[in-house]
Amino acid sequence: MKAVFVDKWNNEYMPNRTDWKPKEGLFRLKPYPVKFPMKQIKDRQATMWRYQEALPFETIDTYTSITMGEGMTPLVPLDADHPNLLMKMDYLMPTGSFKDRGAAVLIAKAKELGVSSVIADSSGNAGTAIAAYSARAGISCHIYVPDSTSEKKLAQIEAHGAHIHKIPGSREDTAEAAKQAVEKEKLYYASHVYNPFFYEGTKTFAFEIWEQLGEQVPDSLILPVGNGTLLLGAYIGFQNLKEAGVIKSMPRIIGVQSEACAPIARAYTNGEPVSPAENRGTLAEGIAIADPMRGSEIIEAVKDTKGTIVTAPEEGITSAGEELSGKGFYVEPTTAATYAAYKQHKAEMVPPDETVVMVLCGSGLKK
Ligand SMILES: *Cc1c(COP(=O)(O)O)cnc(C)c1O
Repeated sequence: MKAVFVDKWNNEYMPNRTDWKPKEGLFRLKPYPVKFPMKQIKDRQATMWRYQEALPFETIDTYTSITMGEGMTPLVPLDADHPNLLMKMDYLMPTGSFKDRGAAVLIAKAKELGVSSVIADSSGNAGTAIAAYSARAGISCHIYVPDSTSEKKLAQIEAHGAHIHKIPGSREDTAEAAKQAVEKEKLYYASHVYNPFFYEGTKTFAFEIWEQLGEQVPDSLILPVGNGTLLLGAYIGFQNLKEAGVIKSMPRIIGVQSEACAPIARAYTNGEPVSPAENRGTLAEGIAIADPMRGSEIIEAVKDTKGTIVTAPEEGITSAGEELSGKGFYVEPTTAATYAAYKQHKAEMVPPDETVVMVLCGSGLKK
């Protein structure tokens, strides 16, 4: 069996709904052997499913009824003057963000496990992605959201047929309500933060970059980090490539937080454990996570790659977004924040002539 959850003491748990107790802690997936047979991979469709020997399925057919062709998003230079600064265009995913990578694998896996209802909490792109892939899989989907969530976001989640549960109070209150419902109603917990299968999807981001660079790793990777679902996925992905012996070293992973809500950047800089931060309000809503559950895992991953964590200057976000639009990329403010941080910190972060991959995470059409 490829897919077993482990807790921090390496106790094993079956990844099905009756064993699921989110309050017991954060699970990881027990490592399993992965392979990258390039000849076969190159013969397959240009989607994230081409790396099937590195995905946690018992039979790979599980995904075929669910996929919308996600993955293998383009990797293109920022512009002709910056041939070594490459944009990974994950905003071209079916629901408009990289969350589709995680949601597609998580929901395909839920289907393989025989799950009929899932529950998740998110007001943003993760909720939309889980709702869309649940619809495709014929799985009933319950999304918990703060009651302050905008009508536009609710409309997208509802359009996919998900049941919305509005919870009064903060984002944390919503997470708590969802966890209680998981334990009480024994629904499958499709959380992008807690469920290890989500990271098994986001790790394909690393595989694609490696393949698109001619089976090489970039020198650095610049990613937004709130809960770290892309950052940790990328880390796991490059680790998989290393374990399989196809790469020798990892790229430096550089995480970008909002200066208005930076619990991980603060802990990293001060060498302290991650503690909840205040959210002073930012345009980069997608990374304004005050209490990131996997904060210490994120810091360990970044340190292991000799990367760093920086913050995005709030006053630079709008102009960074305009600059990207001026080059053809129409992205949402959280993505613009990543570029704003790159511009501010590039001199100290990346030596000239190094290959840098930056992710364009979310579509501007969602603004
Ligand atoms: C989810 C998301 C982020 C932040 O990802 P984390 O998993 O919270 O680190 C950034 N940008 C976009 C567009 C997102 O959807």
